[in-house]
Parts: sequence; structure tokens; C-alpha cells
Amino acid sequence: MPENQDNSVDTENTQSDVEFTEPAAAEAADTTAEKAAHANGDDETGLRFVDLGIDARVLAALQDVGYEKPSPIQAATIPLLLEGRDVVGLAQTGTGKTAAFAVPALSRLAELHDLNGPSRKTQALVLAPTRELALQVAEAFTSYAKHIDDFTVLPVYGGSAYGPQLAGLRRGAQVVVGTPGRVIDHIAKGSLDLSELQYLVLDEADEMLRMGFADDVEQIFQQTPEGRQVALFSATMPSQIRRLSKQYLNNPAEVQVKSKTTTGANTRQRYLQVMGPHKLDALTRILEVEEFDGVIAFVRTKMATEDLADKLRSRGFQAAAINGDIPQQQRERTVDALKEGRIDILVATDVAARGLDVERISHVINYDIPHDTESYVHRIGRTGRAGRSGDAVLFMTPREKYLLRSIEKATRQPVEQMHLPTAETVNTLRLGKFAEKITETLESEDVSAFRDLIASYEEEHNVPAAEIAAALAVMAQGGQPLLVKELPAAPEFQKRERSKDGFGSRGPTRTLTEGNATYRIAVGRRQRVMPGSIVGAIANEGGISSAQIGGIDIRSDHSLVELPADLSPDQLKALSRTRIGGELIHLELDNGRKPSGDRGSYQGTRSGDRGDRGGYSGGSGNFKGNGGFKREFRKNDGERSSADRGGRSFSDRNERGVGTDTRKPRTEGGFKPRNKW
Ligand code: ADP
Ligand code: MG
Repeated sequence: MPENQDNSVDTENTQSDVEFTEPAAAEAADTTAEKAAHANGDDETGLRFVDLGIDARVLAALQDVGYEKPSPIQAATIPLLLEGRDVVGLAQTGTGKTAAFAVPALSRLAELHDLNGPSRKTQALVLAPTRELALQVAEAFTSYAKHIDDFTVLPVYGGSAYGPQLAGLRRGAQVVVGTPGRVIDHIAKGSLDLSELQYLVLDEADEMLRMGFADDVEQIFQQTPEGRQVALFSATMPSQIRRLSKQYLNNPAEVQVKSKTTTGANTRQRYLQVMGPHKLDALTRILEVEEFDGVIAFVRTKMATEDLADKLRSRGFQAAAINGDIPQQQRERTVDALKEGRIDILVATDVAARGLDVERISHVINYDIPHDTESYVHRIGRTGRAGRSGDAVLFMTPREKYLLRSIEKATRQPVEQMHLPTAETVNTLRLGKFAEKITETLESEDVSAFRDLIASYEEEHNVPAAEIAAALAVMAQGGQPLLVKELPAAPEFQKRERSKDGFGSRGPTRTLTEGNATYRIAVGRRQRVMPGSIVGAIANEGGISSAQIGGIDIRSDHSLVELPADLSPDQLKALSRTRIGGELIHLELDNGRKPSGDRGSYQGTRSGDRGDRGGYSGGSGNFKGNGGFKREFRKNDGERSSADRGGRSFSDRNERGVGTDTRKPRTEGGFKPRNKW
């Protein structure tokens, strides 16, 4: 690296994701870091963890947690930090910043440990803005330190008792992770001794300052020994951080990773509350009223990609599916078709769309809810590219609304509520378009032959021209109705309240949601059933999302439950065998009779009900597109309370989820050891 080069190490490849700036120049960047700087593409650095000079014990732990390759920010900062440099690392949420500072810190501490023998003194202090983040970082440190003997990581944060924290500090912790306020308190109390501190980390520095911790942070800096190394990580670089870094850091290397996978502020995020069966209509309405260029609709399963693409094609859209089962070559052809405008809508699974870079994508539709915030961030990163603006729309049931907070946190941007375009809006547009087509045709086509035909028809049949034109319009529509009807709105999410008689408030007097029917189950008050156990049993055994379970009315010896009218034969079979409190529930469509108290007598009317309602065999099509619904349920989720709290999985995979674990607060993406880059 020539000495007289300008600030940016990366001159050859201006497209690169990683940029280095050496404020004090002169020093050549580490060769591995340089390699990282020349890396191109979303996540690729071409480097492996073994290339970075990490201590073997830490390396082994990284293997344990399943990290295969360093992320770009890790590849860039780990070597610098191992060298002893102060570093300012800038990268968006979800880019792996925790390991970027934890791995080199632990690596150095492990080596110190070998040199000087074990020390109980605090050698590394990490400041994080919130309790959740402190816990998350502490958890990460603990897992990476797994193979280092005699090693303790202690989280300390405000809002919780001093006792255990004091005891922990007395026993000694080599790494302390804390919120600034509480750290100051411990310093003041004398319980936190920083005299042997080697390493100070500011994680999420911008957030920390935004939260008003600037003074605390400065005070902590002043309490740390002269020669300590500082790593400052942040998503953005406000001037306050620049000033802090100038004042307290020693000739820091500045590393900036421009992640293509995170939202630019140029992507507007919206959510729409829509129930499963109405998603297709909702999507087509949105596509009708919004200006769009290219669209990616994300679904959860491979089957759903084909299914939705088919349905969109049959509604006149140029759509195609990509999923992991489709051969690479064909996938590439499909993506090319999207790039070139031969198709407009790509229906994809997360895996198939990973890293997809198509400039014309104006909309990302989260048709099925993503597994976790990180997939969400990846998904919506497909739009708003190359400086364009983008739109991200998330379909969710009212019950899934609790996920918005994590998404907003991860993307640092609000997610606005979107309302389904009304039938009136859609219809006005359709009528306008239809009229436009008439104008175009009149202007561009020779209509004389037809004009004569109409004239003679008018004469012969004595029908006004307007009537004839209307009939022709119907013909032109090819049997499709021109206008749409209003869709039922998704019910606003309500905490289930108990009415004074102790039953669910959504009783049978409520009108049924369209597409639903009332079912009867043969357990009631006498069997001491609670709404929660009914929801739990039906959701688990029938593979039905609790959001699809409507009103529940518990009567003395039976209960009425509102469920989708078109339960599949398999679901019905499973449900007929379901027990609550040991009793078979004998689920069947309710025939509206007054309860007689004689359970056995319902049996005789069953087949009749089936015929009347036609719902039993009426196609489980609604479920096809939402494989996710079924999998969202795990045992024990039957309790309303846990579902209400959002205790149910954002994803069905515990190790990836956000909010899957209600015992430990999590933020942003959660700690996700087996994620691949
Ligand atoms: P940030 O602090 O930049 O928001 P995190 O450090 O929280 O990001 O990491 C985001 C997620 O990526 C975490 O779930 C983490 O376990 C995972 N992760 C980090 N580094 C790697 C890696 N090298 N390979 C695979 N997953 C990783
Ligand atoms: Mg972080």
C-alpha cells in the first residue's frame, strides 16, 4: 500500500462493500483486512475465520455456534483489533458486529490468560444502550468464551437488583457488559474496578448517545486506564460520535461496511392486517392501485411459490416462481426475465431470493410472514436499490402485530399501517382503465366493420347502442366481473376479555366472519373447558392458526367455535379425534339447533350438515398458500396468555426466532447461532 494514498484503502474497487479510512494515514492496512476491502458481493469476503489470527479456543467456539465465514465487518475489524488498534466500526444492524468486537477481545484475553495466569479482574468492559442488548452481548461473549477456562462474563444493567450484580462482581468477571448508567453506579460504589481494563467497547454507540448517555459514556472513558484499547461500533456516525472518537480513541482505524441487505431510508415500510384467505385478493388490489415496477412476493414454502405464481398469472399478472427446487439455470433465466421486464412479479422463498439484485424491484411483499426480523431485513433489502425508492409491505394477522416492534427496532424505521384499497378505489380505477381502453381502441383501431354490424343490430333488434356496447363489454371481460366486492376487514386485535359470565366475549351472537362457520364441540362448562384449551387443542391438532379461530361460546355441555368453513378432510379427521380434558370433542358443523344436552344425538345429523354447508370438502385451498400457519404451532401454545404475549414463535425454529423465548428479552434478530451468511 503506497503511503501517499488518500484515505480510502479501497481504490481499485469502488463498488466494494467495505471501506477503510486511515485518518492518520501512513500505516498500511493489514493484508487480510485489505483482502476484505476488496471483497465484493453481499456477504462474501472470501476469508475464513482461521485466516484472521484468532485464538484456537475462540475459533473452536465459533465452530460450535456454526459460523462458517466471517461477515464483512468481522473480516475487516477482527485483524485490526487483534493487532491492538482502536477501531471505529460502522455497519447496519444484523451485520455481525457483536462477534466483530467480542472475538478479538476474547482472543486477546485468552492469550493474556496464558501469559499471566488467570485473573479475576475486569479486563473487558462493553457498554450497550439497553438491558436487552447488554444481555444479548453477554450471551454472545459467553458462547464464544466457552473453551476458555475460568472465564466469567457478567451483564449489569439498570432496573434490576444490585445484589446479584454485586455478588457477581465480587466473585470477579473478566468481561462486564452493562448499560452506562449502571456501570457508573458500580464504579462509584467501588464494586467495579477498571484498573486492569484492557479493552473497552461501545456497542450501538449512536443509539447510546441518542438515549442520552453521552455524559455517562465520557465519564466512563475518563475512568479507564491510559493504554486500553477501544472499539466503537455504531450503525451511523453522527458528529457526536466523531467528536468522542477524536477525543478518546487512539488513532482509530475506521471501517465502514455498506451492507446491501439492510434497509435504506428510501424504503417505505408498511403492514397490512389481512387474514390468510384474503391475502390473494389483498395482493391483487395493492398491485392494482399502486404504481409498481418489479415485485417480489415472499412466501414460506416451495409449494406456495408455485401456487401463488399460478394464481397471479390467472389474474392477469406476469408472475413466476423461484424456489430451491428449481434448477439454478432456470432460476437465473427467471431472474433475467424479471430484470428485462418479461415478468413483473417473482414469487420466492427466502433462500431462493437471497442476494438477488434487481434494480427494478419497486415492491417487496411479505405475503407470508418472515421467520424472524433478520429474514425480514434481507427480504426488504431486495428493493430500494441503486438509489431508487422502494416499498415493503408486510401481510400479518392482527395477532402478529407484536412483531412490528422488533422490525422497527431492527430497521430503525417505522412500519406504517396500510389499509386495504377499498372496493370503491379499485373499482373506480378499473372503470377508468376500461374507459381508457375504449379510447385507445377508438383511436388506434379500424372499427368500421364492427360499426356497421352494430348499426344494423340496433336497427334490427331495436336495442339502443349503449345496451349493445354494454353487452360487448361483458364479452370483452371474458366472463370475469369488472368490479370487485368489499372484503371483510381483518378484525382488530383484541385482548380476549372475559364477559361477566366468564365466557369468551366473542360469542355466537356476533356475525360470522366471511368464510367461517360455527362448529360444535362436545365439551362445555360441565367438562370445565376454558377458551384457552379449546384454542390450544384445535390449533394443535387441526393445524389451524389461532388467528383463524373466531368466537368461542362455552355452553353447559358443549361449546360453539367459529372456524374456517373449508376445513380439509384431514383436519376434520384430526379434530374428531382430539380430546380436551380426556373427552373426545366430536367436532362437527353446528346445525343451529338449540342445545339439547344430549351429546349422542348430534351424530345423526352430521352427514346432513356436511351436505348443507358444503364446507367439508370445499377445498382446503386456503391453506395451501400458508404452510406457515400450520407449523407455527407447537405444543403448549394453547394457552391464550402466551399467544397474547407473543410467546408463540415468530418462526417455527426456536434457534432462529425473535421472541421465541419469553424468558429472555431479545432485540434485533436475536442471538442466532446457526445463521449462515
Ligand atoms: P449486529 O450487532 O451487527 O446487529 P449481531 O452481532 O447481533 O449483529 O449478529 C446478527 C446475527 O448474525 C446474530 O444472530 C449472530 O449470531 C449472527 N452471526 C454473527 N456473525 C456470524 C457469522 N460469521 N456467521 C453466521 N452468523 C453470524
Ligand atoms: Mg449489535
